[in-house]
Amino acid sequence: MDSNKDIEAKKVIGSKAAGYRNFPMVSRVIFGKGCFNQLGDILLPQRKHSEAPFIFLVDDVFEGTELATRIPVIFNDQIIFVSAEEEPKTSQVDALVQKIRREYTELPSGIVGIGGGTLLDLAKAVSILLTNKGGSAVYQGWDLVQKPALYHVGIPTVSGTGAEVSRTTVLLGPEKKLGINSDYTTFDQVVLDPNLTQGVCKEQWFYTGMDCFIHCIESLNGTYLNAFSQSYGEKALELCKEVYLGALTPEESRDKLMMASWHGGMSIAYSQVGVAHAMSYGLGYLLGVKHGIGNCLVFQHLEEFYPEGVQLFNQMIEKQGIVLPKGICAALSDTDYDTMIEVAMSMEPLWENALGEGWRSVITPEKLKSIYEKI
Ligand code: NAD
Ligand code: ZN
Repeated sequence: MDSNKDIEAKKVIGSKAAGYRNFPMVSRVIFGKGCFNQLGDILLPQRKHSEAPFIFLVDDVFEGTELATRIPVIFNDQIIFVSAEEEPKTSQVDALVQKIRREYTELPSGIVGIGGGTLLDLAKAVSILLTNKGGSAVYQGWDLVQKPALYHVGIPTVSGTGAEVSRTTVLLGPEKKLGINSDYTTFDQVVLDPNLTQGVCKEQWFYTGMDCFIHCIESLNGTYLNAFSQSYGEKALELCKEVYLGALTPEESRDKLMMASWHGGMSIAYSQVGVAHAMSYGLGYLLGVKHGIGNCLVFQHLEEFYPEGVQLFNQMIEKQGIVLPKGICAALSDTDYDTMIEVAMSMEPLWENALGEGWRSVITPEKLKSIYEKI
């Protein structure tokens, strides 16, 4: 989850006393249908020498597909197919890093992640851990990474998370689900080729796209809002409306959702997410519910916090014919509810963004339980 990723955002936004955060951005980005074909040329100047490979971490949904044959593998480059069935774990990152260290005498030239938020986050984390000592769990938190990461490239194949622009990589660790938030996390290069999102099934397209929509609603209705976040958030929201409520061709829709994701990610970079993310984090932690669908499951019941947003959400769900699963929390014990509530309530900056400093007078364990019970 990206929900607790910017706890330090608090010290930044609008807070002159603590100083404004100096935010890193993706250094290079290429956009356009078919631009994936230029990947070989893009990587060439970054190759250290023939012994230093590029490692491609690729969603295993692409194994044996035409896309896999187009990955520009030369010399001793390697493609590693990874399942996105589960969201990334610190142990998984550490295993990948060990494998790469074992198989090569030299550090690779770089890491390329091809897939959704899961693969993008894995690529970011592996590139950091190849140049920094110890296991990835050590770096979960804020600005703990000491050395620049290896050159890393992100190539999204499903749009919405904003992971392609963010300075975090969210990992499930032994103790917590928390991002490695650092200036070194951000990609050096992003390849935005809308054609790559063609195979995404309708449900996934909706859930991941709604992550972007919810980023916009939470950012635009938050107390941390500022002109920077607003400018990106409004654009992303407009694009989401076109995609999910308008009458675009599939091609236009893919282009626009890719740019919505980018702008939505930029919007929360300089503000924060809110109620849906805080509560979805509880669901993810206890039940392993994935980020996109988890946000939707919570958001549908948040009309009291985001009346216009929920109304729009309902229109989108209806127009797209999506049926959200029900009864997710039906069989949970009191202890389970307590766990989810504790996890959600620990996301202080998210609540403060959503409801202001007095949020504790509104958000009580009983209140959260009553919402979870509806899911
Ligand atoms: P995902 O990467 O988990 O992928 C979802 C499903 O879509 C998978 O089954 C995958 O195989 C499939 N898929 C991907 N591309 C496809 C394609 N072109 N055709 C067919 N199937 C395809 O989904 P997501 O919603 O993009 O990412 C969720 C992850 O992103 C979570 O782990 C979450 O924590 C993380 N996240 C990170 C940030 C960040 O800023 N770093 C922000 C939000 C979410
Ligand atoms: Zn999100």
